[in-house]
Amino acid sequence: MSLPLLCDLSRQELAEWCQAEVGQPYRAEQIRRWIFGKRANDFEVMTDISALLRKRLAETYALFASEIVSHQRSIDGTEKLLLEFRDGSHVECVLMREGDRRTICISTQVGCGMGCVFCASGMMGFKRNLSTGEILEQLLRMDRLLDPEERITNIVVMGMGEPMANLPNLLKALASLDEKGGMGIGVRRITISTVGLPDKIRELAALGRRYNLAVSLHAPNDALRNTLVPVNERIGIPAILAAADEYFDRTGRRVTYEYVVLRDVNDSAEQAEELGRLLKGRGAHINLIPMNVVSELPFGDPRGERLTTFVEILERHGVATTVRKRKGADIDAACGQLRLRHLQQLETANIP
Ligand code: SF4
Repeated sequence: MSLPLLCDLSRQELAEWCQAEVGQPYRAEQIRRWIFGKRANDFEVMTDISALLRKRLAETYALFASEIVSHQRSIDGTEKLLLEFRDGSHVECVLMREGDRRTICISTQVGCGMGCVFCASGMMGFKRNLSTGEILEQLLRMDRLLDPEERITNIVVMGMGEPMANLPNLLKALASLDEKGGMGIGVRRITISTVGLPDKIRELAALGRRYNLAVSLHAPNDALRNTLVPVNERIGIPAILAAADEYFDRTGRRVTYEYVVLRDVNDSAEQAEELGRLLKGRGAHINLIPMNVVSELPFGDPRGERLTTFVEILERHGVATTVRKRKGADIDAACGQLRLRHLQQLETANIP
């Protein structure tokens, strides 16, 4: 029988376990420093902890629950891992290098139930939520790819899955990072992305933790958004914008709207005008993401001149606009693409 994951425990829960085992709750900080700060891969190396406690740790908990089944490196320094968990589930995580920044993109679910038609993860449907420890494990695996002097500086929760649909496990993981003995990555350096679930956005705002919020909009009106993001049919853009405005009012954090630009689908001048009118005066920021072409999907990347016009129109409306640089173009960097390819290879090879 496999052991539970140590990283499923909060700092407090680990302290309680240490208290029960050896009457020394402060050992939790030491253990956490080994895992999050000193990149320990084994309980045995934790030499400032008694042999008895190390033995009990090894008998009770697993430090990792995944295997790396694929590791891709791009010429621009981007790295991507495909992890396989004990139940055979696969998730992806990405490390991006930009100047001094080391940003990692993590997944929160196996598959995704939102069904966005331009997304490889959406094609596969929802399988299950990741646990707190499985979410943190992606960080630990990525952290161990870095050079000794490098540190993860930013986290974007934009990988596979809808983060707001697994909020309790995600929030416990993010809080653990900022607790004593964690990685010291605070809320300002963490961005949570959502397809736009208004109740969950309000729940997050009510917590008083000022994470950066990114809303994946992808269309300037409901008619188009319903075709790209099917879950929109029962939500609608006005309800999403109202919740996002509330998030801004309560936290003071400017909301980012993500917009995957799909050639001849949502990249016209008229659509840019409509989007500009929608976001004008909201203190919002829009991040345009040129489509990363996935061969299984019928969408193209936007042509340069159309994208330039699109940006100009948004800026004329006073909406702060950026175009995301393409990272890892020579690897399977689009969301869910690596997992999809791996599953296809298994199918081709007839491996269960
Ligand atoms: S884009 Fe995000 S929300 Fe949409 S299907 Fe893919 S993983 Fe899910």
